[in-house]
Amino acid sequence: MTHNPRTISILGATGSIGSSTLDLVRRNLQDWRVCALTANGNVEALAKLAREFSAEIAVVADETCLPALREALAGTGIEAAGGASALVEAAARGADMTIAAIVGCAGLAPTMAAIEQGGLIGLANKEALVSAGPIMTAAVAKHGATLLPVDSEHNAIFQCLQGNKASHVRAITLTASGGPFREWSQAQLEAATPAQAVKHPNWSMGAKISVDSATMFNKGLELIEAHYLFPVGLDKLRIVVHPQSVVHSMVEYRDGSTLAQLGPSDMRVPIASVLAWPERMEAPCGPLDLAAIGELTFRAPDEERFPATRLAREAAQAGGAIPAVLNAANEVAVDAFLRGHIGFTRIAADVAHVLESYAPPPPGSLDDVLAVDAEARRRAQGLMPCT
Ligand code: NAD
Ligand code: MG
Repeated sequence: MTHNPRTISILGATGSIGSSTLDLVRRNLQDWRVCALTANGNVEALAKLAREFSAEIAVVADETCLPALREALAGTGIEAAGGASALVEAAARGADMTIAAIVGCAGLAPTMAAIEQGGLIGLANKEALVSAGPIMTAAVAKHGATLLPVDSEHNAIFQCLQGNKASHVRAITLTASGGPFREWSQAQLEAATPAQAVKHPNWSMGAKISVDSATMFNKGLELIEAHYLFPVGLDKLRIVVHPQSVVHSMVEYRDGSTLAQLGPSDMRVPIASVLAWPERMEAPCGPLDLAAIGELTFRAPDEERFPATRLAREAAQAGGAIPAVLNAANEVAVDAFLRGHIGFTRIAADVAHVLESYAPPPPGSLDDVLAVDAEARRRAQGLMPCT
């Protein structure tokens, strides 16, 4: 790229997606000027990145970490800020490109603040879109923002849709690796541990999304994400298990042509396509050696052992606040599982339980979504064993 440097903010800079994004920025420093970098509470990692990239501002969501951040950045001229409203204010500085890479609904308010500035938004934070789909997509349209999907499946679909009409789409198929427990029996699933769940066979990711891959809630959330990003109708959205994670998703057209996007299991591939969009940039990602891979296999998902995709499809069908309820209950259950408070199969059971007991009316605003999220969390927390 030869134009002037563009400004970029990374919400969730210390995470897996944040690191992959900064790896690409680091290799193309002439193209970027870093505006805001944010983290939850990892002051050391955040301060190091802020110094390396000469960020304009570094923000910790956890306000108690602000004094340590101030100290770590003393004398650098980099602003330090802390707390939920500081996060929103930093996102509202209106960088040319914002990468939304916070995990969970915690990323919703700052992502909305970035959208309201009307720039390019690289969306990794699927929980935000799942929770606030219609409100977020309306804000994108109102403020003239451009939502570019970072999630590998949605990035693949986005690429396969280029140059075609949505009205000519017959079906969109999301591929799923099936996660580390793809071949496990129900009895084995009952005994699955957090360490086993976070060990994904193909991808290296944050803990929460790794557990979501193991339960298939990741694919469920992605189904809802696709429903909001590519509104072709839920009946046209399919899921197929593809253990090799080479085909990242596909779009079938009415003439029988299916376009797929393939690539190595490296999130820098979709992130690079977002950073350079609508152009292409050089990325340090390996060539796809299909002869070495040998076989690509596909099969239907098993919703008996992995009910998450069925629950997500039902939530998407219900619409309104229900996807936010599903997401919040899942966030609480995953956290409890990671802490060793509940077993693996309790995650989907608890989500189903909260969905049965709580069906609020459709939210009309961001605050309504946050209230639904809070109440669904409270109910999910109520199902947890006392510790
Ligand atoms: P991660 O856990 O590695 O990083 C999360 C980031 O968010 C960190 O910077 C952390 O400090 C910050 N954060 C966590 N809790 C926060 C809070 N309450 N308030 C503010 N900031 C907070 O997660 P990740 O794997 O990078 O995933 C980030 C998002 O991208 C998730 O929504 C995930 O589903 C999505 N995603 C990730 C991958 C992947 O390969 N990792 C792929 C596709 C989509
Ligand atoms: Mg994905």
